[in-house]
Amino acid sequence: MRELNEVWDSVLKQMSEEISSVSFETWIKPVTPVSLDGNDIVLSVKSSLSKNMLMTKFRSMIESCLELAAGTSLTLNVVVEEEDKNSNNGNIESEDDPITRKSELNPRYSFENFVVGGNNNLAYGAAIAVAETPGQKYNPLFLYGGSGLGKTHLLQAIGNRYSELYPNRKVLYTTSEKFTYELVTAIREKTNQDFRNKYRNVDLLLVDDIQFLATKELAQEEFFHTFNAIYEAGNQIVLTSDRLPSETPHLTDRLKGRFQMGLIADVQPPDYETRLAILRAKIEDEYFTFDEEIIEYVADNIRSNVRDLEGAVKRILAYAGIERTNTISIELAQKALKEIISTLPQRNITTEVIIDEVEKYYHLPQGSLKTKKRSNDVAYPRHIAMYLAREVLGESYPQIGDVFGRDHSTVMSAVRKVKSNLSGDTELAEKLQELVDNIRKN
Ligand code: ADP
Ligand code: MG
Repeated sequence: MRELNEVWDSVLKQMSEEISSVSFETWIKPVTPVSLDGNDIVLSVKSSLSKNMLMTKFRSMIESCLELAAGTSLTLNVVVEEEDKNSNNGNIESEDDPITRKSELNPRYSFENFVVGGNNNLAYGAAIAVAETPGQKYNPLFLYGGSGLGKTHLLQAIGNRYSELYPNRKVLYTTSEKFTYELVTAIREKTNQDFRNKYRNVDLLLVDDIQFLATKELAQEEFFHTFNAIYEAGNQIVLTSDRLPSETPHLTDRLKGRFQMGLIADVQPPDYETRLAILRAKIEDEYFTFDEEIIEYVADNIRSNVRDLEGAVKRILAYAGIERTNTISIELAQKALKEIISTLPQRNITTEVIIDEVEKYYHLPQGSLKTKKRSNDVAYPRHIAMYLAREVLGESYPQIGDVFGRDHSTVMSAVRKVKSNLSGDTELAEKLQELVDNIRKN
């Protein structure tokens, strides 16, 4: 008798030729072969709905494929490995195959676990709108932004919410690379019609990283027609990219035009508060507890994107594992993040940056703090800026004096004044904290 995996691979091959590709992707491909013992084969699936389908609709077909593959008849056993929360506990609602291609969607990405901040609220709001009322408001929805900022997360969350709300409609998640690859294969194997059926007859098409489409003319041509077919049928398209359509080299004008027809929403790097919220959300599920101090340390130092924030948490946890400790100290966090922090681009805080932020905060025209004006509305913020240059940057009094065109004793007395005001003035303390945050997060 042949090995379990060999037998199952042969079943997969036979089944893929027998049933529709949607049925195959939904029910057969996700099955994991577990054991082959005597005449018993055990398969595992993720939901009782899948088990029901295997044991009813596909049972005789699987058994005959098994017999062909193994050379003897086998008894089919199916176990449910992990009850999938999204399944309806084995109640088969319709005779038809569910059309949504769940396998392409990762339930890990949801709107519920997406942290919303000023950096992504437009994209988030629009994503919810298209998931709930597709084909109406924003078509296409074009999400763009730098790497690791949550574009794939939002795109997948749209697919997940949509398939919950509209279980009988077709959703297709793909990347522009996969689209291109499948197109090339379809042309080679002369299965263009299947390709078109797959991509054009969907209710919701989600294409990730559309910027890579621009490398192939043929794919652009095909995608133009795909887009039109879906759009004209009143169905929804959502695209992501790392840049605007107008800034995508080699993208044809007519595709640029199509991509700009709906709503273009950006995702920006998270600000300090949002970074804190993301970190809190990411460590919520972990066994370890992180002191607020550590969360702030990470938020202060990792500003690039959410992927790096997640990476930082993982690194800290890995270090805690190595050191066999379940209390995470700030030293441990610093040690864990030392290498990444030094390789990330950080904004260079200078006295100039501080002056800039203080002027903005007090709504003063740029350059006012460096003038000789002594009126209180300028002098007071000037003192604050000097204090921050000293306390945040640790600059020397003469260095600060140089930037402001004052001598070091003037700076010294300004810093002292702010310090003495600070004791007992919580409002000032809060203002300073806000300023420090502004200075750090930009
Ligand atoms: P992109 O596609 O823009 O490169 P991803 O969507 O892959 O970025 O996001 C990178 C990681 O960060 C993923 O694990 C994702 O779940 C997570 N992530 C991104 N933005 C958020 C957010 N606002 N809230 C929670 N997690 C996020
Ligand atoms: Mg992505």
